[in-house]
Amino acid sequence: MTALAEQVLRLAVWLCVLCAIFLPLERYLAVRQAQPGERQRWPDLFYYFANSMLPMLVLAVPLALVAQLSRALVPVAVPETLAALPLALRLPLALLVGDVGAYWSHRLAHRWPLLWRFHAVHHSAAHVYFLTNTRAHPVDLLFTRLCSLLPLYVLGLAGPGAASATPVAVILVGSVWGFFIHSNIRVRLGPLEWLLSSPAFHHWHHTRHNHVDRNFAAMLPLLDRVFGTHYLPGHWPAEYGSDTAVSSQLGGQLAAPFSPAMPAVTSDRTES
Ligand SMILES: [Zn+2]
Ligand SMILES: [Zn+2]
Repeated sequence: MTALAEQVLRLAVWLCVLCAIFLPLERYLAVRQAQPGERQRWPDLFYYFANSMLPMLVLAVPLALVAQLSRALVPVAVPETLAALPLALRLPLALLVGDVGAYWSHRLAHRWPLLWRFHAVHHSAAHVYFLTNTRAHPVDLLFTRLCSLLPLYVLGLAGPGAASATPVAVILVGSVWGFFIHSNIRVRLGPLEWLLSSPAFHHWHHTRHNHVDRNFAAMLPLLDRVFGTHYLPGHWPAEYGSDTAVSSQLGGQLAAPFSPAMPAVTSDRTES
């Protein structure tokens, strides 16, 4: 069996595990029922497989180069000290640093029209459920992943040898949590929502009209509290999506961001 076939098979098994966990939960604890035409199963399945394989294939070389380059830019004491930390300290620190990178790249994707063209694919989901996690234009995903992993390599929290496990752990923990916070399940985490993002926290990021451009953090809502973008009321959003027109066809979603005709900025966005 080729390496590619093995990878596809592994992802198919993971998909079965995810379905076994989330389909029953989304059936009995649904925030809302999908309306006719809101589900886009085939594009979502394509994004699941493509976006699970693409980042490490494409980013491995640039990240290795950055790790080399950063040795000339960052005082050697910084990576040496951080790389020497025990895994129990290095991993939470890597999650924090990675989430700061993800927060600002995500916020930039909402502010910068060129990046929004690609990020609009993620926000075109009118029905948010667990597979919405991987529904992203590959360019959007690569940009966000690069921005969250780059600081880890620069600071020495990730690199060759034992430190190579850190980015893998960050991606794995972030991916699992990403499926959870997108899931269509009506659960709240109580006081834990101060520490960790929840489905309600991220569903408000997908709201269609009021309170858009909030809750950018992937895992740590404290970042939104610190940077003034936190919003988490007791109720759930009434409607999901964005006002940027995105094709319902996979080919259109992948090609449109490169077209000059595509509206580059979201319109009719209102804050209240
Ligand atoms: Zn977003
Ligand atoms: Zn999302």
